[in-house]
Amino acid sequence: MKYVFFIIIVLFNNSKILSQNRNYLKKTIHVLCSTEMEGRGVDSKGINLAQNFIVKQYGDCGLLKYNSNSYFQSFECKDSLGKLSLSKNIIGFINNHIDSTIVFCAHYDHIDVCSNLSRELTTKLKCSIHAGANDNASGVSLILSLAKSCIKFKKPKYNFLFVALSAHEIGLYGSNYLLESDYFKTLKIKALLNFDMVGGLNSVSKELIIGLSDTEAGKYFSKIIHLVNDTSKLIIFKHNAQLLQSDATIFNKNNIPTLSFTTGITEDYHKITDTEEKINYKGMIEIHKLLIAFITNI
Ligand SMILES: [Zn+2]
Repeated sequence: MKYVFFIIIVLFNNSKILSQNRNYLKKTIHVLCSTEMEGRGVDSKGINLAQNFIVKQYGDCGLLKYNSNSYFQSFECKDSLGKLSLSKNIIGFINNHIDSTIVFCAHYDHIDVCSNLSRELTTKLKCSIHAGANDNASGVSLILSLAKSCIKFKKPKYNFLFVALSAHEIGLYGSNYLLESDYFKTLKIKALLNFDMVGGLNSVSKELIIGLSDTEAGKYFSKIIHLVNDTSKLIIFKHNAQLLQSDATIFNKNNIPTLSFTTGITEDYHKITDTEEKINYKGMIEIHKLLIAFITNI
């Protein structure tokens, strides 16, 4: 009887955690896609609101600041018209006083209104706000919810670094700057996990695409992912070294053990129809669970 009671409590707690996770993912995507954030283009005023929001989430979660007084890592970038501007990666840390770190990255910028990166066909549509729910409010909300889980680990094996990257859309500036920074060079990295468009898990095919290198580390990660996935049998993988794209590319080229995760490019890619109601939150929770199993088993 005691045993049955215990199982009921575990199940109840699990479903409570899942619904809290879902609410959090939904809330963060909703805020990042709000009209005031103007699609988080590098030249928009709205991107400052997105930065403040992410900083507040880091603070509420209890992440340590990147340097003594700020989560921001500032750098210069050039937009497609050659205009110089300042942008910021947002970096938070869980220091478990271990010499090895797992890094989570996701770009938080999207495209400005009237950007030539829009796939809309008319000027009127190109000059409307592109919310970028899947690209990449989904990736940011996932790393924020992972931070909330990682900070509660009772016996962590690694430190955890969370980086919301900027100026991705106009030329991958944030990831390049992070890689070259002195701070990053001091880290011993067990794995770097990059998330770009993870809100579109097809509820039938459940296909998660994972970019992995053909190195020893890549083969090891692949083995662990299959192992933890076999327990849940939730997600089908398409694994391809060619899929180490965009922000992940530069890290992989520099021999950092890198994994890139995406649910793939959809019809709404860089269109005004990339909106929050299309996000598969259940799918995101499945990915979240898989990632927790992965990082606790490597
Ligand atoms: Zn993206």
